[in-house]
Amino acid sequence: MAYVYKGTKRDEDTPAQAPRIPRPVKPGEFDPSACGTYAGYRRHQKHGVPTCRDCKTAMAAYSRDRYKPRPPKGFTPEACGTYPGYSRHEYHNVPPCDPCKAAKLEYQKQWREAIRSKPPSPPTIRKQCATYAGYMRHQRAAEKPCDKCRDAYTQYMSKYRTRRRAA
Ligand SMILES: [Zn+2]
Ligand SMILES: [Zn+2]
Ligand SMILES: [Zn+2]
Repeated sequence: MAYVYKGTKRDEDTPAQAPRIPRPVKPGEFDPSACGTYAGYRRHQKHGVPTCRDCKTAMAAYSRDRYKPRPPKGFTPEACGTYPGYSRHEYHNVPPCDPCKAAKLEYQKQWREAIRSKPPSPPTIRKQCATYAGYMRHQRAAEKPCDKCRDAYTQYMSKYRTRRRAA
């Protein structure tokens, strides 16, 4: 008689979980059979039924799962070393590699330089000048604020700060 190692029978002892087949639900009819799962939670929402405790727990577990760092599934390093490549790391929750980190720094540097290379134009004096609105108008036009507007802005900010302190 051949010796049969018990371990080989293990698969039979633990049946695979039967796939959950979503049962069709008539609109307006709440079916609690899925309670304690995320699907159950959704069912509460769909039917406007207050969430039961089991479903609340399931939902909490679901969001915990969802927001924990995901394995780098779907991440391909083909864009690495570019700024879009860096974004891919963020999207897939993969720590950025060195070429991508460098690409991001380079991108930020260029961006800052682009801003710096565009000096604000001299202020255009408008009707709103010497008011906060006038100051904002200069800003929108990428102009340096005129002196009167700068004063108005400083006053506005200090008033704003006192108001906040009083609140
Ligand atoms: Zn429930
Ligand atoms: Zn990379
Ligand atoms: Zn002005």
